[in-house]
Amino acid sequence: MSFDYHDGLLYAEQCSVAALAAQHGTPLYVYSQQQIVKNWQQFAAVWPAPHRLCYAVKANSNLAVLNVLAQLGAGFDIVSGGELARVLAAGGRADRVVFSGVAKSRAEMAAALEQGIYCFNVESAAELEQLNDVARAHQITAPVSLRVNPDVDAQTHPYISTGLKSNKFGIAMRHARDVAVRAQDLPHIQLQGVDCHIGSQILTAAPFLDAADRMLALITQLRGDGITISHLNMGGGIGIPYQHEQALDVSAYLLELQRRADAVGGLTLMLEPGRSIVGNAGILVTEVIYHKAGDDKDFLLVDAGMNDLMRPALYQAYHDIIPVKQSSASPMLVDVVGPVCETGDFLGHARHLAAAAGDLLAVMNAGAYGFTMSSNYNTRPRAAEVMVVGDNAHVIRERETLSELWKGEHIVELRR
Ligand SMILES: *Cc1c(COP(=O)(O)O)cnc(C)c1O
Repeated sequence: MSFDYHDGLLYAEQCSVAALAAQHGTPLYVYSQQQIVKNWQQFAAVWPAPHRLCYAVKANSNLAVLNVLAQLGAGFDIVSGGELARVLAAGGRADRVVFSGVAKSRAEMAAALEQGIYCFNVESAAELEQLNDVARAHQITAPVSLRVNPDVDAQTHPYISTGLKSNKFGIAMRHARDVAVRAQDLPHIQLQGVDCHIGSQILTAAPFLDAADRMLALITQLRGDGITISHLNMGGGIGIPYQHEQALDVSAYLLELQRRADAVGGLTLMLEPGRSIVGNAGILVTEVIYHKAGDDKDFLLVDAGMNDLMRPALYQAYHDIIPVKQSSASPMLVDVVGPVCETGDFLGHARHLAAAAGDLLAVMNAGAYGFTMSSNYNTRPRAAEVMVVGDNAHVIRERETLSELWKGEHIVELRR
């Protein structure tokens, strides 16, 4: 593991986490470059080219993270024009970008067409018409994959399940054929493939393979109609153990996917992993400000809040919280809560920790959907981010300053 204790002190690779906190302050995101590389290789080793792995940028979009992945040959899955600009700024290649998202604007479509992305993952019939329109204005054709909703239950948290009929993502399976026929007819659309993304934090292969079977049946049906389909993109959603769950066997899943796709034939496979690449490669380091005794439990009030790491507040997500310096004191039952004025502002409920004011805690597995979901709520500057490489640590995002927070705001004269 890239985060481990040596002589009772937590290390990120060969850097002492306490030393990083002393130098850069808290709250602080710390990433291990080696762990990102390891996670990526787990996929890339099983799936060399021509299959395509497109890292889902929204999981962690820091330029340094994107740059490491670009150097490893990654493609990128983006959900906005902003993410496209980030990928390019980080040295990623536009021709390896797939563009997901339910409400792409004309301007975002135009920018992606101008950059020459690999394909648009189109999520509705209306989007297909608009994309054809924008491509016509640019006198080019837009490469397209249809995002189909396979209606499988990924049995994950309802907010991160995306493959059911009842949610907003993708084209309903029963409409897929009509939309594909329409795509064939539109002069500025070039239909290349189909894609799906059934949800997030999924820890068994069964829902993915269930979805794959439905997608492969659709491909066979479309081909029967004379429609060429050359890729199948199964999206992301591979979970990571947050609470000592059994990890998904990535290579077994990829090989089984490959086997089923081979039975149909003529398909390039694609995936869009996000969390599984960066989740366990990052921690959030926070300092205990106060220990507050309560009637039935105690509170550790820490300097990181829901604005820094929103997952607990948003999804009741569990993150391990461990001391940066191991102690022999007996653990207390505590809620670890932040400084934000919301009852939902917690990092962990009912934990057993021995910690006092001034001690440092590490919130584990915070590399995905951590910093990218952070905000300035309560006028709290966003945390600094550091990437560790062996015994070196590099600041990859400086801590925000207060004046940056109101840059662009303007005071209006009071009319009396
Ligand atoms: C969020 C998202 C992903 C990445 O999901 P993870 O659970 O982080 O792997 C991939 N594809 C699409 C379309 C997404 O919306």
